[in-house]
Amino acid sequence: MSEVLLSAKNLTKRFGGLAAVNDVSVDLWRGRIHAVIGPNGAGKSTLTNLLSGDLPLTSGSVVLGGQDITGWSPEKISIQGLGRSYQKTNIFLPFSVWENVRLASQSREPHALNWLRRATSFIAINARAESAIELSGLKNRRDSIAGTISHGEQRQLEIAMTLATRPQVLLLDEPLAGMGAVEAERMIALLQSLKKDHGILLVEHDMDAVFTLADQLTVMVNGQVIASGTPAQIRADAGVQAAYLGE
Ligand code: ADP
Ligand code: MG
Repeated sequence: MSEVLLSAKNLTKRFGGLAAVNDVSVDLWRGRIHAVIGPNGAGKSTLTNLLSGDLPLTSGSVVLGGQDITGWSPEKISIQGLGRSYQKTNIFLPFSVWENVRLASQSREPHALNWLRRATSFIAINARAESAIELSGLKNRRDSIAGTISHGEQRQLEIAMTLATRPQVLLLDEPLAGMGAVEAERMIALLQSLKKDHGILLVEHDMDAVFTLADQLTVMVNGQVIASGTPAQIRADAGVQAAYLGE
């Protein structure tokens, strides 16, 4: 029952003379994790920023949920069904887990004042936040201050904030960065549980995690795709071994 949720074609981003992303195409399917790997500076984060609308494209096109979203603002793209996390942790440290997730949920309302005017909207915001906390495994930290929970829990919180916007597609930029083995295992289990209902683009350096999680892989070097395929195909690719995995 797989379904293409996001289809990006021939994406290019130039910063002056540098093509940070050069003619890259990716599809994201519901029920699949598509990992993007490659050395530092390959263009992985830039690619996620192009898909989410955080950076304007130089050229190319993106279709999300059957809708051409090329050139749309990040806010509109979010409401159309794309959720993302960033390479650097991005939460409100003085606020509780619940407050962080509820604010994220509120941002999903298409009209900013809805929640003030309509009780149904307020109830929907809270319901989305509760279920996001539950899904992300943070129920026992619901009332903890975000600045006091562990690094691994903070990254779970970012996922919860993303889920509170009820996305179809998740873009996750290095969700395992800085984690110890136990935290990483918990995050891997969380991503596995989210796969069923979402299309996921995973940028990650932890190759054990990547090869555990990914259904498809794209390998980027210097802005370009040098290989793409199943984990078995990528492992067997001599060019990838030389450029990246063999390091
Ligand atoms: P990765 O995430 O794979 O490590 P990035 O997408 O962060 O790579 O960066 C790709 C290239 O684009 C790098 O050479 C980086 O220096 C450059 N770059 C990224 N963002 C900008 C920017 N806003 N302005 C200029 N150059 C940038
Ligand atoms: Mg990056």
